[in-house]
Amino acid sequence: MKLIFYGTAAAEGFPGLFCECEHCQKARELGGRNIRTRTSCLIDGQYLFDFPPDVYMQALHGKLRLSGVRHIIVTHSHEDHFQPDELKMKRPPFAYPGEDEVLRIYGNDRVFERFLKAGCDDEYNSQYLRFVHVGPGKTFNVGEARVTPFTADHNNEYETCHIYAFSLGGRSILYGHDTGYFPECTWEALRGFRFDAVILDCTFGGIDWDSGHMGMKACAKVKERLVEQDSCGEKTIFIATHFSHNCAPFHESMTELANSHGFIAAYDGMTVEI
Ligand SMILES: [Zn+2]
Ligand SMILES: [Zn+2]
Ligand SMILES: [Zn+2]
Repeated sequence: MKLIFYGTAAAEGFPGLFCECEHCQKARELGGRNIRTRTSCLIDGQYLFDFPPDVYMQALHGKLRLSGVRHIIVTHSHEDHFQPDELKMKRPPFAYPGEDEVLRIYGNDRVFERFLKAGCDDEYNSQYLRFVHVGPGKTFNVGEARVTPFTADHNNEYETCHIYAFSLGGRSILYGHDTGYFPECTWEALRGFRFDAVILDCTFGGIDWDSGHMGMKACAKVKERLVEQDSCGEKTIFIATHFSHNCAPFHESMTELANSHGFIAAYDGMTVEI
């Protein structure tokens, strides 16, 4: 399984869209891996987690080929994870997909509301776009992959956000953001799953935080418990991502912090083979 992290920032991006804080100013000066776009992750060229507002930029500069993507698995309805207006570029005359070529979007009811509001189900778009409702505990097929959603600790008053187990070709990953420290129902549901890689919400980096989002300490606690309940072993790769400008997520310092807890700090364009 080949994972490409096209975006690794929280909602505001790094540097933040409107921000002139010292971290954002420094990120602009440094450039390179200190520049982070909104989160998405591509698996084997076909499966995309989330569809952020930076998707066009990622296609231009990160070489993301959306024509090859057949499935978009959406974690929740927040704008940094789902930008449905861009989906309408899939149909003629904006693109010329092959006959019967359909792009499937998987998500919760709130994601579906945004899909409808953007007009993605009108008579033109619905020929090329199809929404699939998914919910916690119900495993479904996505192309060749098997996917199970779990309840996240995030935006709880408004929607049930998902983290996902994704298995393909004998390998499995846990796609774990946006979320705080997992709810007990999720710990229970995760029993019996085994992961080769775990990707976690590290919005707060070195700042201690475990509710709605996580910092590195909470990520380490999740790691510990996953190992304890045998969902992960010595070979499991742990990856931290979705960093906010508030935690000064410079590539070097984030790598140092993540490594000290047995994690890799993701950066835009990072490729991982598992
Ligand atoms: Zn987010
Ligand atoms: Zn800033
Ligand atoms: Zn969110």
